[in-house]
Amino acid sequence: MHKKTITVAGGGPVGTLLAISLARHGYKVGLYEGRPDSRQTSIYQGRSINIALSDRGWTSLEKVGISADIKANAIPMYHRAIHDIDGEISKLSYGKEGDAIWSVSRGGINERLLDIADAEPNITTHFEQRLVNVDFNTASAVFQTAGEHEVTVDADYLFGADGANSKVRRLAHNLPRFSYSQTYMPQSYIELNIPANADGSHKLEKNALHIWPRKDFMLIALPNNDGTFTCTLFLNYSGDPSFEGLRERSDVEAFFESNFPDAMAYLDRPVDVFMEKTASPLFLVQVFPWSFNRKVALIGDAAHAIVPFYGQGMNCGFEDCAELHSLISQYEHDWDEIFPAYENARKPNGDAIAELSKRNFVEMSDLSGDPMFQLRKKIEAKFHAAHPDIWTPLYSMVTFSPEVPYSEALHVGDVQQHIMDQIMQLPEIESDWDEPCVMDQLYKLATARL
Ligand SMILES: Cc1cc2nc3c(=O)[nH]c(=O)nc-3n(C[C@H](O)[C@H](O)[C@H](O)COP(=O)(O)OP(=O)(O)OC[C@H]3O[C@@H](n4cnc5c(N)ncnc54)[C@H](O)[C@@H]3O)c2cc1C
Repeated sequence: MHKKTITVAGGGPVGTLLAISLARHGYKVGLYEGRPDSRQTSIYQGRSINIALSDRGWTSLEKVGISADIKANAIPMYHRAIHDIDGEISKLSYGKEGDAIWSVSRGGINERLLDIADAEPNITTHFEQRLVNVDFNTASAVFQTAGEHEVTVDADYLFGADGANSKVRRLAHNLPRFSYSQTYMPQSYIELNIPANADGSHKLEKNALHIWPRKDFMLIALPNNDGTFTCTLFLNYSGDPSFEGLRERSDVEAFFESNFPDAMAYLDRPVDVFMEKTASPLFLVQVFPWSFNRKVALIGDAAHAIVPFYGQGMNCGFEDCAELHSLISQYEHDWDEIFPAYENARKPNGDAIAELSKRNFVEMSDLSGDPMFQLRKKIEAKFHAAHPDIWTPLYSMVTFSPEVPYSEALHVGDVQQHIMDQIMQLPEIESDWDEPCVMDQLYKLATARL
């Protein structure tokens, strides 16, 4: 009945998951990726770059029955390991006992999804075919091949899953009533590496996300399966210190040695890498609508490029796919209903996680090293354990509670922050935090406000 055809432009993780989901709903899917197939041509230059996947990502993968497959290669990280300037390490749990975020290889998860897509009879994958034009009335698209030939592909519908710099989105700029904003963050980033020990083991604790919070900048490290860590240095683009300001080798050496003395023992040529690399900018993109003429839609980073400080970009994109997966069943393949329902459901959540991610830079780079912040988290965790029906900490709502939409997490989190500000003002809170009177006061405030 509905053997319609759908073009998915962009074979990144979101586009590939979407293709699998659509194929399993019975659509004929053409998945077009601009780059070569990474399973055959090395496009990652030997680098293993990883990201944190959490419950929203897993739940979304589960909807198409593939979470166990991906989890087999993921590393659970149960807490943050916070490295202070003197090399002291403190632990800050992510949630309750057993809660973890998972380090997965960005390329690895993409390749596994592509393998699953290849096994679907309804999907045809095309590499080195770059979308260059779309007809927003018909969903017909033009792709340019590696040999510079142009191929026109007709379909009933088209999804732009072509990432933060989406071509589909840029072409949509010419449509009437298209709202668009792009905001650069002060920070840029470079990736560094911590190699494995000679026996392949990790040089730092494996099951943790390591953070060196230094207020205006920070270094983080996520474990890989091969014993290495992928590290990211987030630093302002300009100012002092900054990528722009640190030009001389001696200044870069002094920057690393004074700010990350313990990490210097592990990092692979950080000064050389800093000098060689161009820092990548961080930016947010917000647009509306996400669908056009009931024919073409945006998904994943193409619809909502956010900053990486909550580790939610891919999780959010996977959740877009899960939402569509449900809506296709709910509206029985009626795309006149599905497109508006999809964008109305997801846009407020995309905006909310964009806001939460921006705010989380301060939490990671400044507050995570602050003892009062750690105490606040301890009080919240204790209250949550006693009253899970009244209070779930914001981080847990975002990361471990896929049933709570991002927009609700943002709203509830703001109320909780106000309440916790009052609790932290209580006299002697540092010594009395574990006393029943603190929990009683928190209970009173929470039940009145939440
Ligand atoms: C430093 C950093 C850290 C991050 N950490 C996390 C994290 O911890 N957790 C998390 O959930 N997210 C994280 N993210 C975000 C995550 O990487 C993205 O949200 C995710 O990759 C988005 O997937 P996507 O498929 O929408 O886009 P992409 O991964 O960008 O894939 C888009 C694909 O489209 C292809 N393409 C582009 N243009 C065209 C075209 N014209 N025609 C055809 N194909 C095209 C590209 O080659 C690419 O393969 C991080 C991002 C950064 C930058």
